[in-house]
Amino acid sequence: MASNELKQEIRAALDNSTLARTLGNFCKTYPAKRENAYAGIDFEATRDQIREVKSYAADHVDEMIEEFTENCQKRGGVVFHAHSADEAMEWIRNLVKEKGVKSIVKSKSMASEEIHFNKILSDDGVLVQETDLGEFIIALEGNTPVHMVMPALHLNKEQVADLFTDYTKVKNEPIISEEVKTARRVMRDRFTHADMGVSGANVAVAETGTVFTMTNEGNGRMVGTLPKIHLYIFGIEKFVKSFKDAAPIFKALPRNGTAQRITSYISMYTGACDVVSDKDADTKEKKEFYAVILDDPGRRAILEDKEFRQIFDCIRCGACLDVCPAFALVGGHVYGSKVYTGGIGTLLSHFLVSEERAEQIQNVCLQCGRCKEVCGGHIPITDLIMRLREKSQAEHPNAVKKFALDAVTDRKLFHSMLRIASVAQAPFAKDKPMIRHLPMFLSGLTEGRSFPNIAKVPFRDLFPLIPQRIEGEQKGTIALFAGCLLDFVYTDLARDVIVDLNSIGYRVDFPMGQACCGSPAHSMGDIENAAKEAEINIEGMEAEKYDYIVSACPSCTHQLKSYPNYFEEGSEMWKRAKVLADKTFDFCKLFYDLGGLKETGDGKEMKVTYHDSCHLCRSLRVTEEQRALLKATKGVELVEMEDHDNCCGFGGSYSVLYPEISAPILAKKIENIRNTGADVVALDCPGCLMQIRGGLDARGLDNIKVKHTAEILAEKRGLI
Ligand code: SF4
Ligand code: SF4
Repeated sequence: MASNELKQEIRAALDNSTLARTLGNFCKTYPAKRENAYAGIDFEATRDQIREVKSYAADHVDEMIEEFTENCQKRGGVVFHAHSADEAMEWIRNLVKEKGVKSIVKSKSMASEEIHFNKILSDDGVLVQETDLGEFIIALEGNTPVHMVMPALHLNKEQVADLFTDYTKVKNEPIISEEVKTARRVMRDRFTHADMGVSGANVAVAETGTVFTMTNEGNGRMVGTLPKIHLYIFGIEKFVKSFKDAAPIFKALPRNGTAQRITSYISMYTGACDVVSDKDADTKEKKEFYAVILDDPGRRAILEDKEFRQIFDCIRCGACLDVCPAFALVGGHVYGSKVYTGGIGTLLSHFLVSEERAEQIQNVCLQCGRCKEVCGGHIPITDLIMRLREKSQAEHPNAVKKFALDAVTDRKLFHSMLRIASVAQAPFAKDKPMIRHLPMFLSGLTEGRSFPNIAKVPFRDLFPLIPQRIEGEQKGTIALFAGCLLDFVYTDLARDVIVDLNSIGYRVDFPMGQACCGSPAHSMGDIENAAKEAEINIEGMEAEKYDYIVSACPSCTHQLKSYPNYFEEGSEMWKRAKVLADKTFDFCKLFYDLGGLKETGDGKEMKVTYHDSCHLCRSLRVTEEQRALLKATKGVELVEMEDHDNCCGFGGSYSVLYPEISAPILAKKIENIRNTGADVVALDCPGCLMQIRGGLDARGLDNIKVKHTAEILAEKRGLI
């Protein structure tokens, strides 16, 4: 459940118009720029290579540490292997004391944030200067990074000018080139007087003892070259075996991070070296090199878990943040800890920064799956966040949530509750198909959208009354898995699925033993109830009896397909779950594959735009079939909307738990729909249907209809 503090943080972020503009603009333009940067590069192959080399390093981490240490020391470097943040800082403080370091210049290092480097050394009286422009700005602001790669993305040039004016006591104009000059002037002096430079590594190569830093600012190189002492701080996840293994990371990191083919600087340092201290006299001095390898219990906990260890494949490119709809609205100060941000930041924060913070922010994720698509390390971020929810629910069960999910799992109780609700809603429904306002704690359901009425008669009672007119010879029998929304809200849609399938020669059955698919329980981390629901549906659906199972809800389809995961492989229940999973298809895919594609229709003009639901396009990978069916329907003109595959903000219970985030995402979707001039929004998910239809109704836009593809086919083919 959302905590009050987090809710307040969300509201404050949403009220911050600068944040909305800066983040919104960046996230809007990023996908196209990234695509350009990848021209001629096979992204899938590149990220598979990254996963391979990083996984290899993770599997051999102790060897990597040993090899790196040996090779770095062979070249005059000193390596300290720290087993905790405290151990790392104690060693660093001793080094600073021993060398008489009074002033430090630092280039971005997230590991140093984890160990509170700046605070501890500043308290010791050492001057620590952040030199990356963004880090410098947020240090002046007294803030933490809003984004992994662009830490000051939340500020505009006017705000930066004010911060610089306060700091330099000289009026700074809000002109970016002038602001860069100010930062340079401040930094130059610090660079020339610094006793130590501190850097973070993008990659550490074990075979040679080399550390790499990729930056777009020259300060990174000055940190590494001007002071007499250079210290690198990095975690054990940064290792790769060889230079060759580092190559795919260099290919993906700039393209994913800032949509560049290459960063302005790639610096590599291998051990200590002699540097010319006086050119005229040709005198040389030793430049000292130190590396602190952070190998704390949090990192070891990541490695110990066979799924979470994929976190080590992260190259910290930040692409997952740039495409995240929740991040685009609230930024990394809300969706993050003080160090790491976004979905991957939630995972990293759990192990490396604060479990409590991670437990809160993991719920900000909509589970839309966009981050997975662009991830440079090919990490299933969405699935790992789900695992984190399971872990939290198991370790700190939420009684209210558990009670609600127990009630949904009790099929008879849940169905009785829905029947009661269909009567109790009357005063709010006022004989209209949508409810515009609900009172008190239910008000979140109607924030920015209307809420559909619960059907007076559930589909399970209507089913026996539906005549099935099968076209030609019957080809087989399909069981309909309705899911809660078709069974209790969109009963006409369930009927349309039946008539569509009848029209291509299939009889449809409705097994009465079916219950909720378990997706709500699973998405809230309640695996116990999700497994119970899987069992009820395996028994209830009796998949063995049917040729196929059809669902008109991609979330239900996805959930049914995941049932084998709840049972021990090879067990009787697992075998039955597998039969059910293999026979289950989403409506569009099944209808298309069974020969439903036909040039037919009433020919009446209908301008249609299509919204891709997250589960259908990303989990089930169905994007073409529904478009082909619509295009073949006479009279239909299909126009694509901008960001057609962006989430609508529904996310199951998300729209109730976080209406503040869900509502603006929906508003954007509606704007994109309106811009197409379409009369109908087609989609294939009853959850999205509820969200978008509700959003249009709340805005009085009832001239734009929202229909499931099954409804359009039934209507245009004259089947109803
Ligand atoms: S699944 Fe969607 S909301 Fe969650 S972190 Fe990924 S992009 Fe963000
Ligand atoms: S999780 Fe993936 S996309 Fe996000 S920063 Fe790491 S590598 Fe990049």
